Amino acid sequence: MASKLVAPHGGKGLVCALLTGADRDAELKKAEGLKKVEISDRAKGDLIMMGIGGFSPLTGFMGKADWKGVCESFQMEDGTFWPVPITLDVDKSEGVKAGDEIALVKNGEIFATMKVTEAYDMTEEDKKWECEKVFMGEGEESVDGNFWKLGPEDHPGVIMVLAQKDVNIAGPVKVLSEGEYPAEYPGVYLTPAQTRAMFDERGWANVAALQLRNPMHRSHEFLAKIAVEVCDGVLIHSLIGNLKPGDIPAPVRVKAIDILIENYFVKENVINAGYPLDMRYAGPREGLLHATFRQNYGVNNMLIGRDHAGVGDFYGLFEAQDIFDRIPESGDDAKDLLCKPMKIDWTFYCTECDGMASLRTCPHDKESRVILSGTKLRKALSDGAEIVDHFGREEVLDHLKEYYASLTEKVEVKMQNAASGDSM
Ligand SMILES: [Zn+2]
Repeated sequence: MASKLVAPHGGKGLVCALLTGADRDAELKKAEGLKKVEISDRAKGDLIMMGIGGFSPLTGFMGKADWKGVCESFQMEDGTFWPVPITLDVDKSEGVKAGDEIALVKNGEIFATMKVTEAYDMTEEDKKWECEKVFMGEGEESVDGNFWKLGPEDHPGVIMVLAQKDVNIAGPVKVLSEGEYPAEYPGVYLTPAQTRAMFDERGWANVAALQLRNPMHRSHEFLAKIAVEVCDGVLIHSLIGNLKPGDIPAPVRVKAIDILIENYFVKENVINAGYPLDMRYAGPREGLLHATFRQNYGVNNMLIGRDHAGVGDFYGLFEAQDIFDRIPESGDDAKDLLCKPMKIDWTFYCTECDGMASLRTCPHDKESRVILSGTKLRKALSDGAEIVDHFGREEVLDHLKEYYASLTEKVEVKMQNAASGDSM
């Protein structure tokens, strides 16, 4: 039976750079003799996504024209939509130049080989320009013109880009490893081909994804259930790459989702999976990236709630929803983003409504509402504070409390306005 799912992004099917079997063995052997370049954790995640088709139609890291087009107007040189530059930085002293073939290495493991087609300088000015284009946000000015005052200290995305090395290299890759993910997350680390096969098997055509990097609380559960009501099914998709210190480790979060599904969902309508990327902390543009790679996983509806992929107080609470209205559309399905946002207003538990509600459904005042946020939950758990009724499900909270009890050092969780509910 033909698949009813949305086509992978870029009109070329799933573009997978991962080699297996004898091809991989031969390439690994060749890689041993190549110049080795150490890569970042972020680049490792990007490579794995290129390997499994999560970044279709990318075949490698971006050249200067694609980098510029993506930063400036969300489009690669050929007009294909892409929201965040996927680049690889190296030190000038490495002397990598166009025409070289190199091995990309992380902690002694060869992750890929790369045919370098381009090496371009990234001056301080270029990096600042990239930060302004990618991280400054559009529309609401949430930090009142203080982006450059606050960003280099407080915005992890800005800090990351400014710390990048002074040359970007581009070119197609052959990916040789999926890292620790297949072994550490069996049944959870799924490739786009695997999620598509699962959706097809269930006969799904209309699939939503819920992006998670925090433990699932009642608002997430509500969002997922709204999607279950109007779609064929939901992919609960957690980031299992690197987060920032103080965040809850992926295995603990994944187990918490299992517990929630077990007790509060119809299992046939939901799939719990993880993807191998690091957070880029790109705010609204990261929301677009979430939708872009979800399309490759077979998803055509991206749940975007309040402060999606928020970074401190840098972005307006609904900026990640609004940005979807401003991206270019060429009219060519092969080039445009086909995974659409499913925009949900601010959700909470309301004692007067006696259930979950949103600003669109609840007429009551702030005092009746239990404001839910992942940051707030982590703070309460870390402080050992009493957790407000209706914040999460008992079974899930018990599992999380167990994790925090096992920690030998207290985790400091910084509260921002976005998480406090002050702006409601
Ligand atoms: Zn209410």
